[in-house]
Amino acid sequence: MGGTEVREALAGHRLALVGGDAREAVIAHTLSGWGARVRTYAVEFTTLCPLPGFHRSASLEEALDGATALVLPLAGTDDHCQVYAPAWGEPVRLTTPSLGRLAAGARVLVGQARPALRELVTGAGLSLRELADDDELAILNAIPTAEGAIALAMDHLPVTLHGARAVVIGFGRTGSVLAPMLRGLGARVAVVARQPRGLALAQALGLEPVPFDGLPGALRDAVAVFNTVPAPVLGARELDALRGPAVVVDLASRPGGTDFDAARERGIAAILAPGLPGRRAPLTAGLNQARVIARALLHDTGGPPEPASTLAGAEKRGGETGHGT
Ligand code: NAP
Repeated sequence: MGGTEVREALAGHRLALVGGDAREAVIAHTLSGWGARVRTYAVEFTTLCPLPGFHRSASLEEALDGATALVLPLAGTDDHCQVYAPAWGEPVRLTTPSLGRLAAGARVLVGQARPALRELVTGAGLSLRELADDDELAILNAIPTAEGAIALAMDHLPVTLHGARAVVIGFGRTGSVLAPMLRGLGARVAVVARQPRGLALAQALGLEPVPFDGLPGALRDAVAVFNTVPAPVLGARELDALRGPAVVVDLASRPGGTDFDAARERGIAAILAPGLPGRRAPLTAGLNQARVIARALLHDTGGPPEPASTLAGAEKRGGETGHGT
């Protein structure tokens, strides 16, 4: 399926994009350029998309009216179904009556649904599509995450990463993108992983494989430590192994895997750094998300499960003909 077909297939979709940051402005612009009719509410607009081809609704209800899909930010909602909308002056809360404005059988797309949102959506007879576990999106997002993590480490270090020892804890989608990037900068990179497969892959890539019981030893001469494991892995014992100027960049979802109190007591700079794709590269992150959303919409409506990269042809045409409604 090429770009033209994607445009034709998306043309039947009437999307409501509610909440979010600069990424959602990029998503609205891109999906609109691909032929979907898009209405937004509570989206943060920046200069990233100066020529939006979509409609900014005056109310949540107007945005939702008759939409075939509600697209929420990856960060989703809180426990009271309040949508993540950091730059919006007032709370945006989803309720049963507001969801009732969507078209029958509409889908709700979100990063990860909290139980309250799940209950609300299923109670309204709608289907939920969670994108947080989508490997394609996670791997694409690992690129701006890794770049952002490296930039943060550089901001806190008095030495170059080139020639320095860096430790990457966890070798999943983020770790396996970050570690080779650090190596490309000339760092001496150790990868700490629990699975033999991950350790073998690290070795194959010219990285130093370290099982978890070797973590304190690996930290001994490290200047930059990047954690991607969403579990407590950097406690007082591990932090005691760090010597000299060192920075810990914790990428794992809140609360991270670092004992931040212990780091503070030891004078170690430790930073919890959530949401790096949106903070460091909203245009890239928004485009990646738009591709995955488009693919999810086409797949769910019977189109082929296109890899996002094959939508690149359509992306080039993004913004040519928005269908504001
Ligand atoms: P992933 O692919 O699941 O990788 C997680 C890694 O952690 C895997 O290597 C996994 O090992 C390891 N792991 C999990 N639990 C562990 C435990 N108890 N002990 C030891 N190792 C453990 O996840 P990801 O996509 O790389 O994301 C990693 C984290 O970063 C997540 O919390 C995610 O939400 C977050 N994230 C943050 C940002 C940001 O901007 N800061 C961006 C993207 C993702 P196995 O393979 O053995 O299970």
